[in-house]
Amino acid sequence: MKEKYQLTIGLEVHAQLLTKSKLFNADSAQYGGAPNAHVGVITLAHPGTLPKQNKQVIELAAKMGLACHSEILRYQIFDRKNYFYPDLPKGYQITQDRTPICRGGHVPIKTKDGIEKNIPLNRIHLEEDAGKSIHLENEEDTLLDFNRAGVPLIEIVTEPEIHTSEEAAQVLMEIRKLVRYLDICDGNMEEGSLRCDANVSVRPRGEAVLGKKVEIKNMNSFKHVQRAIDFEAARQIALLEKGEHVISETRTFNVGDGKTYSMRTKEELNDYRYFPDPDLSPVEISEAWLHTIQSQMPALPHELFNKFVNQYKLPEYDAQVLTEEKEIALYFEELCSANGLFKDNSNWVMGPVKSWLNEQKKSLNDFPIQAIKLAEIVKCVADREFNYTAAVQQLFPYLVNHPQADVLQTAKELNLLHVNDTVGLEEMIEAIIKEFPLKVEEYHKGKKGIVAMFMGELKKRSNNQLDYKSANEVLVKKLSQTEVR
Ligand code: ADP
Ligand code: MG
Repeated sequence: MKEKYQLTIGLEVHAQLLTKSKLFNADSAQYGGAPNAHVGVITLAHPGTLPKQNKQVIELAAKMGLACHSEILRYQIFDRKNYFYPDLPKGYQITQDRTPICRGGHVPIKTKDGIEKNIPLNRIHLEEDAGKSIHLENEEDTLLDFNRAGVPLIEIVTEPEIHTSEEAAQVLMEIRKLVRYLDICDGNMEEGSLRCDANVSVRPRGEAVLGKKVEIKNMNSFKHVQRAIDFEAARQIALLEKGEHVISETRTFNVGDGKTYSMRTKEELNDYRYFPDPDLSPVEISEAWLHTIQSQMPALPHELFNKFVNQYKLPEYDAQVLTEEKEIALYFEELCSANGLFKDNSNWVMGPVKSWLNEQKKSLNDFPIQAIKLAEIVKCVADREFNYTAAVQQLFPYLVNHPQADVLQTAKELNLLHVNDTVGLEEMIEAIIKEFPLKVEEYHKGKKGIVAMFMGELKKRSNNQLDYKSANEVLVKKLSQTEVR
């Protein structure tokens, strides 16, 4: 049935900007706090109070636009969007209707077949968040918490050019990655700092006009977005198959049963009567201000990805994993500028470092070993001061617990430094060869893989202090020189 229809999705993503104070007043914008702890007279819309523009908000929003190659509007006005809602104290929301701070642009994604695709954006605009209505069990009244009212948001609106639920989830992931790289939003979906509405429609393939859309509100996980879209697509196709119509409406996704439920139909929708807020003067972004914002742009995930692949010659897989999180990418960059060993560093970050973070359920910010120290360990392994196994199994755990310890000193104390005693090594190899005459025979009959068994014996006896590479060379030489009876 799916081949008969095309699915179309447009996303509206809300991201809470990382400011100390709210969009139009000095109340704290911090998440949580006792209910109604962050509510001054402006948040509460007392008569006679006036909004005051938070300038930082403009810079944070413009950064997202620059990251998405959008046009930055240099002259913006704020509009009132009028509607009644208990948690909207003013009776209107201040937003940007006709002059969104950013127009156009795109979000780059990679499909599961590895194809790069730009999902076009319609706009990114600034607006204030509403408060929260709380419905408690056994409580007749609705409780209101206005802490969130007036907190600054950007709304990122894509064009209806996403065609699978998987790609929709990817767009959301990419947006989350971007806002975190830009340090403009913490991307915490559980706390609602990043949430998503999905507009979904289906149409028979070949049909020129898009189908009627349904908007699924306020989802706060990638998985929910994907499940909600899949359910909704199937529901709409079933309707069309029965000869019925899809009605434009707003629906909500129930995480429990994985279904969407109608909230309100478009016919009941308000006329918002947008008009410019007379209490706020327009915002003008001067050439100089824009330059300042541009100069503060950090390296972005896809730029780092390209650098890791093209300049560092890393496999795409490594580059992908390393750029997933900004902190990891920057840590990896620090390693590379310290020792220049790109692939070795990548192996260390993707291996021991990430395993440790996963086991400890910690983020890189809590990782105790400084980049400069880990870079030294990686370099020592490359220089064959001690071997990789010893470094991972002994030195690494020690340094995690004693981050101040000196690398070489510790390696010495733990007896990890290679013994460059060739006579000792040769003796050891000769002893092993004597012990396993049958294996030596097998080796001479062409079973070269047996070398690994001899290496294993050597490792056992040498307490991880072997320079495997030269040991292997000596071993092979000795083996081939040994005469078979
Ligand atoms: P509205 O005026 O109802 O808010 P917009 O045109 O502003 O609609 O679009 C809102 C969101 O809905 C955008 O993300 C857009 O891409 C998406 N959208 C619009 N039409 C469709 C459609 N037919 N199917 C799926 N998504 C759509
Ligand atoms: Mg809309």
